[in-house]
Formats: sequence, C-alpha cells, structure tokens
Amino acid sequence: MATSTQTITAQRESELLASIPTGLLIAGQWRPAASGKTFDVEDPSTGRKLLSLADAGAEDAAAALDAAAAAQASWARTASRERGEILRRAFELVTARAEDFALLMTLEMGKPLAESRGEVVYGSEFLRWFSEEAVRAFGRYSVSPDGKSRLLVTKKPVGPCLLITPWNFPLAMATRKIAPAVAAGCTMVLKPANLTPLTSQLFAQVMLDAGLPAGVLNVIATTTAGPTTGALIKDSRLRKLSFTGSTEVGRRLLSDASEMVLRTSMELGGNAPFVVFEDADLDAAVAGAMLAKLRNMGEACTAANRFIVHESVAAEFAAKFAAKMSEMTAGRGTEESTKLGPLIDAKSRDKVHELVQDALDGGAVAITGGAPIDGLGYFYQPTVLKDVAADARILREEIFGPVAPIVTFGTEEEAIGLANNTEYGLVAYVYTQDLNRGLRMGERLETGMLGLNAGVVSNAAAPFGGVKQSGLGREGGLEGIEEYLYTQYIGIADPYAS
Ligand code: NAP
Repeated sequence: MATSTQTITAQRESELLASIPTGLLIAGQWRPAASGKTFDVEDPSTGRKLLSLADAGAEDAAAALDAAAAAQASWARTASRERGEILRRAFELVTARAEDFALLMTLEMGKPLAESRGEVVYGSEFLRWFSEEAVRAFGRYSVSPDGKSRLLVTKKPVGPCLLITPWNFPLAMATRKIAPAVAAGCTMVLKPANLTPLTSQLFAQVMLDAGLPAGVLNVIATTTAGPTTGALIKDSRLRKLSFTGSTEVGRRLLSDASEMVLRTSMELGGNAPFVVFEDADLDAAVAGAMLAKLRNMGEACTAANRFIVHESVAAEFAAKFAAKMSEMTAGRGTEESTKLGPLIDAKSRDKVHELVQDALDGGAVAITGGAPIDGLGYFYQPTVLKDVAADARILREEIFGPVAPIVTFGTEEEAIGLANNTEYGLVAYVYTQDLNRGLRMGERLETGMLGLNAGVVSNAAAPFGGVKQSGLGREGGLEGIEEYLYTQYIGIADPYAS
C-alpha cells in the first residue's frame, strides 16, 4: 500500500514539474537566458534536483525592464475594474489549482503539505483583496482654506517596479507584491529567490492565463542576484524597488537605491519576542507558541525568536511547550504524516546548530532537541532551551529554525525592556488575560505588529511590516496599494474669480 502511494506521488510530482515553464518571462514570452545558462532547483528534503531553469544575466534583466517600461503607459490607462478582474480571475485559477501550488511549494521549499495549503489560501487572498482595492484608489477635491483655489489630489501608479522575493514563502511573498502593483497599474520585473523559483514560474503563467497583458509582469530567475539586478536599480526607467529578505541585503539595496532616489519598500528580518505573563491561559500560550515558532519550520520573519516568560509560570510553560515540540514528526513534506519539514539548505541548518551550540556553551539547557537529524535533507530537531544567558547570540540573531530559547522576567517593565532589546521591530506576541495590560504592551512595544493572544498575525486585509531595522512600508491592508501609487496635486485657480 505504501509503495503504491509513493509511486502515484512520484508520478504526480514528475507530471507537475513537467508542466512548469523553465524559461524567463519577458514581454509575454517564456525564453532561454541570453547566455544559454541554466541552474538546478533542488528538493531540500532529499538534496535531489527537481528542475533546471534559465539563469538570467544583466542582458536579460535589461530586456525585462525594456518590456516593463514599454507596457507601463497603456497598463496605467487600463480601467481599474479590468485590472481588478484580472486579479480576481487569478485568485480563482490559483484556488482551482491549489493542490498543484501546494505540492510545488513543498517540493522546492520542504514545508509539509498542510502548511503549503495554508500558504495557498494566504497567498491567493492578496489577489482577491487587491482585486477589490483596485477600484478604490481615490483622490480628493477640496476648497483651499482661504477659499481662493481648489485642490485636486489624485493617485497615480509609480511606474515600473523591481520586486525581489525570498525563498521562505514562495507564493505569498510574490502575490503580496504583484497583486497591489497590478491593482495600482504598475508593470513589474520579479526576481524570485533562486532556491524556490518554481512557484513564481507557475504563478506567472497563471497571471498570463488570467489575462495579464504581455510585458506587465516579467520574471527573471537568476543565480547572480546582485550583478543581474544592479543595473536595473540605477536605470532611470525603474521607479520602485520592493524587497523582502534579510536586513543585511536590504541595507545594501537601500544604499544602491539612493543613487536614483528610488522609492523603496523593505520587508526585512525579525527577532520577535513572545511574552507570556503570569495570568496567561498557558495552554493557549503553548498552542500559540507552536504556531509562532514552528510555522514554516521556524523559517519565517515573524517566527517567535525569544520566549520571555514570567518566572512564576516559566517551568510549567517550558515543560508543556517541550512536550508538544517533541511530538513533531520530521519528514519529507509530501508525506501527509509529516509535521516538520527540512530547513532550506545545509548552510541554514549549520547556522541554526551554531546558535544552539553557542547557547549551550554559555550555560543553556536543552529540554528537548539540540541537534541536527541525521540522514538525507537538512533536518533539525525541534528544540527548547532554558537558562539562556542574556548575551547569547541566539537572543540577538534571527534563528530561522525550530529552536525556542526561553528567558524569564519578574515585572512588566522588565518584560518590555527585554522585548525591545533588539535592532529589529517586526512583530511581537503577548499572552495575557488582562486586556489593559495587552493594550499597554501594544503602546510600549517597538514593533509594526502585535499578536495579542494570537500566534499568527498574517492577514491580507492587514498592514504587514516592521519598524527599526525590520523595514519600511507596509504590505496588505488598505496601506498595501499605497506603496505602488504616488500622489499628484493639481492646484486650480478660483472658479469664481472671472
Ligand atoms: P536574502 O538572502 O536577503 O535574499 C532575499 C532575496 O534577495 C533573494 O531573492 C536573493 O536572491 C536576493 N538578493 C540577495 N542578494 C542580492 C543583491 N545583492 N541584490 C539583489 N538581490 C539580492 O534573504 P533570504 O535568505 O532569501 O530570506 C530570509 C530573510 O528574509 C530573513 O531575514 C527573513 O526575516 C526575511 N523575510 C522578511 C519578511 C518580511 O515580510 N519582513 C518575509 C519573509 C522573509 P537569491 O537568493 O536568489 O540569491
């Protein structure tokens, strides 16, 4: 029985992979790289090759921007209702092919199928949300305070955009940028991460099938991100850079973007505190901790990175949390029984272990886990650490793995100090049954988002983004489309003057 399930799955995998476009999408056509180069995409749970894709270089990037620039004027004039309806059709096509998208993400990224299915729902929701927002980019008309002129304020698409996405949420990170750009009337060059580009390839084909005109979305997968996109950032035809990835790369891109005073949106790294007060419902806090820590195997910018727990409940919380963590079965994401997939590559797994080792060397104790899992793929044991020293690297750096360090606090003031003690400010989680305390935490935590008795905050209808070194700008919500619009003001002479 197991063999036949595996055989069907292997056949299904190869049929799906055979249907993925392998070229670069430029001006509505899939084509090889000018250099003829290709690169391999692998399955992180086995290390085996899945597919080879065209490997774009600077010449291809220039052709992609040529196509985006050529399509911009007519795309901006396309009725917003039509742009919205393309997004709505794309939403329906992705939903109809949800199982294909889920399997593809599991194959290239490693997350369990159930999580990939969740990402299809989350990622496609940006298409639906912005299909509705496309027709609501309103301006305003007003009489100036002195009554002598009229003020007409309109919203216009910023123009061709470069969108750079990370490997951890292959569908959602793309739709969170593409959907508002389409709604606003911008054309695009998308550069997906080279570790997980296949989902973007399939999604771009879906956008064409939904009726997106040639040249509006161009896709250039590449293994040479810096040299390939560098010239675009300095090209005066490019008007916007939207980047999701590490703070380190974001900082470099911000500096490059300063030359042309390019508009930027930056969704960068995180170091989320997860604060549990003495009055929290501990079972709910443990359930939230599992979500905030293990979603995407901990490879999420929103992953809880530091568990800050009141000293009176720390032992009970740690024991319950460790018990749940140790129940997680690791395996290939395509197996329905798998609860925890591999990390993305050997480098990431080794970095996670280095942070754990540093904490253990500094006196921390592993209640569960604490080591890589032997065998094919890049698996790491779900790990809970207690007695973590205040200066441990694991409290300062993004872990990006299934590891939960716990530190304790005595007073609310102390919890706030610990939570804010980071250069990042993306999200925080707070568990308390005292609403006033929850609101006080909202006011005092230096983060763009807060999960109050909630382990997940991502929602297409909400503004996602950070403060401090977690980034600039917001994606999703009413704010998301604004990132792709600029405001023009037209001053009009007093209509009663003559
Ligand atoms: P990364 O190494 O910064 O890469 C992100 C993207 O930037 C990839 O497409 C990468 O290309 C590209 N890139 C790298 N160097 C570049 C350069 N010099 N010029 C232009 N593009 C360049 O980050 P990652 O490892 O993929 O993703 C993990 C990071 O993303 C974490 O820090 C996580 O917190 C952050 N993240 C943030 C959010 C958020 O919304 N705040 C969401 C998800 C992830 P290649 O990989 O193809 O080389």
